[in-house]
Amino acid sequence: MKQHESYPLIPIQRGDGVWLYDAEGKRYLDAVSSWWVNLFGHNNPRIKEAIKQQLDTLEHVMLAGFTHEPVVELSEKLGKLTGLGHAFYASDGASATEIALKMSFHYWRNSGKSNKIKFISLQNSYHGETLGALGVTDVAIFKDTYAPLLMQSAQMPSPDFRLSEAGEGAETFALRCAEALEFYVSEHHHELAAFIIEPLVQCAAGMGMYPPAYLRRAREICTKYDVHLIADEIAVGFGRTGTMFACEQGEILPDFICLSKGITGGYLPLSAVLTTDKVYQAFYDDSTAKGFLHSHSYTGNPLACSAALATLAIFESDHSLHKNLEKTAFIVNQMQALTHLPVKYLRHQGMIFAFDVVTQNPQFSKLAYQAALQRGLLLRPIGNTIYFMPPYTIAEDEINFMVSATYDLVKAMQ
Ligand SMILES: *Cc1c(COP(=O)(O)O)cnc(C)c1O
Repeated sequence: MKQHESYPLIPIQRGDGVWLYDAEGKRYLDAVSSWWVNLFGHNNPRIKEAIKQQLDTLEHVMLAGFTHEPVVELSEKLGKLTGLGHAFYASDGASATEIALKMSFHYWRNSGKSNKIKFISLQNSYHGETLGALGVTDVAIFKDTYAPLLMQSAQMPSPDFRLSEAGEGAETFALRCAEALEFYVSEHHHELAAFIIEPLVQCAAGMGMYPPAYLRRAREICTKYDVHLIADEIAVGFGRTGTMFACEQGEILPDFICLSKGITGGYLPLSAVLTTDKVYQAFYDDSTAKGFLHSHSYTGNPLACSAALATLAIFESDHSLHKNLEKTAFIVNQMQALTHLPVKYLRHQGMIFAFDVVTQNPQFSKLAYQAALQRGLLLRPIGNTIYFMPPYTIAEDEINFMVSATYDLVKAMQ
């Protein structure tokens, strides 16, 4: 809060498409989709209309002992899209992580393997900031303070290609990381419940990207040693990596998929954990204690589910994944101009674009954020990484503005 004395908060009054308007009418291009949640622009007429209609019918009912049409329809749609036929709902990403971890642990317990109680994740991973989720997160700035409160987990080498040796290809490096994973799992599988990963892009690590070959190996290793694979697609799901879900690119089926962020197009808080018949069956019992006793007040909220259904309807009717291919190509092309600046690792995966600026300035991210705002652009650099994760509705002139404003501000900071 003290820092806000020099950097006052920006009061946003309204949004429209990729633009956010402050109280004085100054506009900012939302190049980070309001922290990765918005898919089809602010003030989207179709999502708005769906919520309004639901508001006239049923705003909320508890999901214990009751059900309603939007949640049933959404579960069936998500089941088809992910290949995982059972859904459990919550309201935010961190809760989805908690649910997946608890459900994995409880599965092994119900299956007579109560020694499988540990979790592993990737180095530089991010899975949310509640205590359980923070236990498998590996970002020092969020984690260190709370370390004494957290459950222990081990971190496997990250396949982020920026960490590879000079001259080593991204895939060779990823497979080398998978070997280290296998070595660890082969020694510890008796006590391991699950391996949780962010498929293809470690977003909070500064858009660390890795090839699908790692996912395939991770799936094989987890299957071989009887350890669950949890895919945290909270950030990368719903088309961000080019396919509906990142796991599709590795042609793998995880045991759990965590979804949130883009699920409602950025309109309302909702998350879901999808899992397999096998996991479901382990809880199917007369004994209440064998059931998955986890609840949140707003589980499966009808307004949020209707926003999610409207979002999925847009994907279908507008062929968004297909259209994004062209948009990706256009953005990649425009971003070539940035190579004239001192930048490294210009990269993209679907509709996620990033590069690292070569600078010694420890304040770089804060200064670049401020400089972008002055130019009417909302960026949230992570360390030296500048990234774009814009709403899919961004138009060509808006892309040009986003890239050229970024070029100018990086140049001005040299
Ligand atoms: C944002 C994020 C979370 C946490 O979601 P919240 O809704 O902020 O709790 C978890 N995992 C990943 C990969 C994320 O990007």
